[in-house]
Amino acid sequence: NRRVILASRPEGAPGADNFSIEELGVPEPEQGELLLRTVYLSLDPYMRGRMSDAKSYAEPVPLGSVMVGGTVSRVVKSHLDGFEAGDWVLGYCGWQDYAVSDGEGLVNLGKSPSQPSYALGVMGMPGITAYYGLLEIGEPQPGDTLVVAAATGPVGSTVGQIGKIQDCRVVGIAGSAEKCRHAVEELGFDICLNHRAEEFPEQLVEACPNGVDIYFESVGGDVFDAVLPLLNDFARIPVCGLIAHYNATSLPEGPDRLSLLMREILAKRLKVQGFIIYDQYDRFAEFVTGLSQWVREGRIKYREDLIEGLERAPQALMGLLQGENFGKVVVRVGTD
Ligand code: NDP
Repeated sequence: NRRVILASRPEGAPGADNFSIEELGVPEPEQGELLLRTVYLSLDPYMRGRMSDAKSYAEPVPLGSVMVGGTVSRVVKSHLDGFEAGDWVLGYCGWQDYAVSDGEGLVNLGKSPSQPSYALGVMGMPGITAYYGLLEIGEPQPGDTLVVAAATGPVGSTVGQIGKIQDCRVVGIAGSAEKCRHAVEELGFDICLNHRAEEFPEQLVEACPNGVDIYFESVGGDVFDAVLPLLNDFARIPVCGLIAHYNATSLPEGPDRLSLLMREILAKRLKVQGFIIYDQYDRFAEFVTGLSQWVREGRIKYREDLIEGLERAPQALMGLLQGENFGKVVVRVGTD
């Protein structure tokens, strides 16, 4: 029973020395408990925040504790009504081979879900983030220009494809030519630009001849700088993530531009709304029902970046924060 522990807090980008792996015996569940074997572990950008003890919307992982994370597991032993050995469950068991659970927060996926790992992606937390954030905060209208960054990740790819279903013109932004090709050819975006290209800001102006009505913000940094001057009056900006800043240790150098930003918000009557998807978890089933229909119909496509082995999880999280992933990062921890 291996467990990945937070050994120290990173300064800037996390490194291998921030993690350690310990081996323990397999735990025994008591009455009212389950023993779960992790099959898939989700890696997500928010995990960088949990490694730090800066004040945030969620508690940090204590030093010496197992790293947190969403999991899809199989029930090995059940002493709890509603679960049987062999059931697949969605839970939050963290970076470890086995976990004991009292059932709280678990979703029973049954004996043979068709794509169990999808519950960590398009049919789970990232998928509903896209669904709620775009439809309820972004308020898409037919003909709107929607700009979405991190366009091939689980959130961005779903946002862009829902945007197409809503008849928006969808402009993706991604970190390589290969990712951009995928966004256009596989996901059906109208265009996708590489934010690493030198001429990116000029290309974005060209790609948005009617300005930008919705900017689904997952990134911040230079991408936000390029989008800001293109926003139309009454544009909506669901603020979902700011990954370009997650490893930052201080504010960036340069003049204070806060007054410029506030002037844009005022003069253009922008709607800038942050959201944390956990606040909407009482509507999880409603959102997943909407998404699963589109996935079934082939209107939403989904790509996974599968990493083999729990021991590779630290490296994979470091890569995710630098854009080395191509699709939803899922670690296969155990065999099913
Ligand atoms: P992704 O798989 O999209 O991974 C993150 C991607 O961000 C990278 O692959 C990379 O893509 C891009 N990226 C990283 N650094 C930069 C940078 N400096 N500039 C531009 N792009 C960068 O992750 P998710 O789809 O899981 O998450 C996307 C965003 O949504 C994150 O910010 C995450 O924190 C946020 N989120 C927020 C939630 C909420 O409740 N508010 C819930 C879930 C996610 P590329 O190579 O294309 O640049």
